[in-house]
Amino acid sequence: MTQSVLVKLTILGSGGPIPDPHRAGPSTLVQAGGLALVFDAGRGVLMRLAGAGLLPPMLTRVLLTHRHSDHITDLNDLITMRWAMSPLPNPLPLTGPPGTTELITRTIAMLDDDICYRIAHHDDLHEPPRCDVDEVHDGVAIDDAATGVRVVAAPTDHRPVHPTVGYRVEHDSKAIVIAGDTVPCDGLDRLCDGADVYVQTVIRPDLVAKVPSVRLQDIVDYHSSVEDAARTAKKNGVGTLVLTHMVPSPAPGAEEEWIDMARQHFDGEVVLAQDLLTRDV
Ligand SMILES: [Zn+2]
Ligand SMILES: [Zn+2]
Repeated sequence: MTQSVLVKLTILGSGGPIPDPHRAGPSTLVQAGGLALVFDAGRGVLMRLAGAGLLPPMLTRVLLTHRHSDHITDLNDLITMRWAMSPLPNPLPLTGPPGTTELITRTIAMLDDDICYRIAHHDDLHEPPRCDVDEVHDGVAIDDAATGVRVVAAPTDHRPVHPTVGYRVEHDSKAIVIAGDTVPCDGLDRLCDGADVYVQTVIRPDLVAKVPSVRLQDIVDYHSSVEDAARTAKKNGVGTLVLTHMVPSPAPGAEEEWIDMARQHFDGEVVLAQDLLTRDV
């Protein structure tokens, strides 16, 4: 008899900020104990959620790592469709670093025209969308006694972008880390300690250096390289390292090169993400 899978990871979007026909923007789904947790809401998140069998009203909570546009660009779509598709008021629980409350206020203000159109048009729609926002920087983000799911946050280092956080989802003795954009740091080490799976956004400085764009060179010093991610995984005894948000996007056929680069520093399993990649943990 097969045991039911209690914790499931789905990479919704494996891309970074540069538009890619095959990779949606950064977003990751963790399903644990019946909860559906979405980390970041990059480009195309609702399309990929639909691909994973979930619609916005079904989400338990959205958790943001930081407010860079590539990680939140479709948050407005998520808020709108959660609201428009729910037959009754269904506030979106949302967690993020300090500053998130203000971001949500501004996002809902941006949606004002659409909100007015829909309230005027639909007789059963009386209230604007609502998000129940928790801000977290270092500590418990979710401690759900009913399901035994716990999520902790720790500060990461993506300076000058600040504050930023990573998350560790714990359930049934399993742990998945969603690191977000960060260089190696103490907070990241704490999250990764003995984790089964560690999802890290990565860049390849050696390839970025070949791109004739001064602006692109600026990204090198505030992201983990593939080697950084592998060293963090090794240092903290991680089981599986998942590389995602690759910049630049791996050329077709070059995927093994990225994986080999990580394997030089980490003996565990290395996976290069693609959209809708799933792992049962
Ligand atoms: Zn970022
Ligand atoms: Zn990013």
